[in-house]
Amino acid sequence: MNNRVKISSALYRSNVWAFSIYLALCSPALPASDWSRVDGPTGGSPRSVGETNSGCIAGAQSLPLEGKGYQVMHIERNRYWGHADLVKAIKLLGKQSSQRNLGTLMVGDLGQPRGGPLPFGHRSHQSGLDVDVWFNLNTKILDKANAMRSNIGAPSMLNDSQTGLARDRWTSDHVTLLELAANLPGVDRIFVNPYIKKELCESVEGNRDWLRVIRPWYNHDDHFHMRLSCPADSPSCRTQEPVPIGEGCDSSLDWWFHHPTITTPKPHPAPAPQLPGECRDILAEP
Ligand SMILES: [Zn+2]
Repeated sequence: MNNRVKISSALYRSNVWAFSIYLALCSPALPASDWSRVDGPTGGSPRSVGETNSGCIAGAQSLPLEGKGYQVMHIERNRYWGHADLVKAIKLLGKQSSQRNLGTLMVGDLGQPRGGPLPFGHRSHQSGLDVDVWFNLNTKILDKANAMRSNIGAPSMLNDSQTGLARDRWTSDHVTLLELAANLPGVDRIFVNPYIKKELCESVEGNRDWLRVIRPWYNHDDHFHMRLSCPADSPSCRTQEPVPIGEGCDSSLDWWFHHPTITTPKPHPAPAPQLPGECRDILAEP
């Protein structure tokens, strides 16, 4: 065997080896419906796996359907499950909002009992670290029997021409709510519509450090999306690229106002990475 053959056969072997590791780590895509059909979580302590747009969770906890200062909406979706840290953060946000007289928060989707891809509504929310909170404020607790709290709309905070905020709906209470959320323990980032971010950039006085985690994103004009960083108990959880240093009130924000997609879902999203193999075991557990 000459050197070139030796090298290429060694390369071939290492490629085969790398490929088999890859196969062991990544399972073929499991249909979203497999994940939405599972009623309950696995036992044991909470463990977020993978990324928020390609992951799952073991030992998820359910957010009680109502508590001090909050209520879960769309109960019929069974998406009120998440990592214990997320459940704790939402409860704390409810308590703090109630102390500030913001009324009862309407909490939208967290994730499915074992996380994983959702058949509709979101690309992320897969690893038990995401939650949507509606911008409806000053609401009262609704009867759970009230069509499972699913017959209520979340009004957009944008004006009818979608060129700025609706001044009759957006209030300083929304600013207070976002500041409370941004300062919760473990929060990695919060997505809001670019017009909302712009409003904060232009209006917040005093401490502005919290503006950093408020990120402009498509849609998000009727709710904000809060994401926690990977918890210490979850070694195979992967956090996104860190949020850039600074308030984010610069040209990176201006970019949004030169694009007509500010109130639409992200056009041409990249395909989601494959689910970690660990998720197959989590889905299969009794
Ligand atoms: Zn969301």
